Amino acid sequence: MDCLRYRELYEPFMSLPLPRGVWESADYQAWQSHWLDCKTCKEWDLLKRVQARGIDLADYPCVHVAYHSTHVCELHADAWECPDMTLVRTAGGFGIPVRDGGTSVARIEFCPWCGISVSGSKTAIPDGVADAGA
Ligand SMILES: [Zn+2]
Ligand SMILES: [Zn+2]
Ligand SMILES: [Zn+2]
Repeated sequence: MDCLRYRELYEPFMSLPLPRGVWESADYQAWQSHWLDCKTCKEWDLLKRVQARGIDLADYPCVHVAYHSTHVCELHADAWECPDMTLVRTAGGFGIPVRDGGTSVARIEFCPWCGISVSGSKTAIPDGVADAGA
């Protein structure tokens, strides 16, 4: 499966619940393994999810920080209670919640996923990912 096909199948395969026939289809399995193997489509998927949340990517240094710092959990009201919330926005940047019973944050200078400086203002979208809105 190539990237174009992966992206064509994204909408139908992300529409849950999937019919049983889809789960078992070779197309679905190829689609999932493409996601595992393709760094570009993984990022494209993140970008789609960020856009679905109504987030303006221009406010974030990269799609990873945007995705992880805007994660909303249905079970936990705040980032210090939820193991899935890996980044929070602070007054001066971004940080990792320190779960020591308080609400402290370990400031980060660089994105843990791509290494971009999080204090810069420009959003970096990798090649091949930027067409997500089209
Ligand atoms: Zn791909
Ligand atoms: Zn949670
Ligand atoms: Zn990043």
